[in-house]
Amino acid sequence: MSEVEEIYSILNKTYKKQGWWPIFSNEKGSSEYNVGAPRDDNDRFEIIIGAILTQNVAWKNVEKALGALKKIKILSPRKLHKAEDKIIASCIKPAGYYNQKTIKIKNFLNWFKTINYSFDELKKLKTDILRERLLEINGIGPETADSILLYAMDRKIFVIDAYTKRIFSRLNLTSIDDSYDSVQKFFHKEFNGTIKKYNEYHALIVAHGKDICKNKPLCSGCCLNHTCFYYSEIQS
Ligand code: SF4
Repeated sequence: MSEVEEIYSILNKTYKKQGWWPIFSNEKGSSEYNVGAPRDDNDRFEIIIGAILTQNVAWKNVEKALGALKKIKILSPRKLHKAEDKIIASCIKPAGYYNQKTIKIKNFLNWFKTINYSFDELKKLKTDILRERLLEINGIGPETADSILLYAMDRKIFVIDAYTKRIFSRLNLTSIDDSYDSVQKFFHKEFNGTIKKYNEYHALIVAHGKDICKNKPLCSGCCLNHTCFYYSEIQS
């Protein structure tokens, strides 16, 4: 078992199943985890919009934005594309950067329209081609593209974010200055999991980075401190 696999096991035991991607429930007025998303193309679309909205903002704010889009029944490709920018912007205001995010959503939809808003067409594209297409859309960077690929399109690709870089550099397995692609290559080489495990691992990393391995890390209570370079350095 590689060290990256061992860390997965520890995080999994500590934080338990995360069950991403959450889907907004109108009845509950909040996100539901462990629903087995994507169950259908509606889930896929919601995940894509959620992946754009969550850029630089906590999920609880995204939830409110998704709830507002659902409330006025425009969270579907054609309806959202037709909706006026100011309507979308007012719904997604809680997710911050709402004018820019409205443009990003519209940029995605402009491209999606070229394939007739068809998830069947998306599914036909090989992962590297689909990734290239997503990255060509203004406002979709590697983290958003890979979140879409993994969580909406069930593609085996590791999502790298600031938490991943912070935790794994403190563990001395990557460097904080490593590029997105190089950290991703490292995970693809070291973690031989299924798509489900890739899904869980990223979610576990987020849980750990959010609650324990914060900017100011809470090392004494950390499940990884026995193997952590940063912790051993501050102890010595
Ligand atoms: S021991 Fe501290 S620095 Fe290391 S992973 Fe845990 S919280 Fe992060």
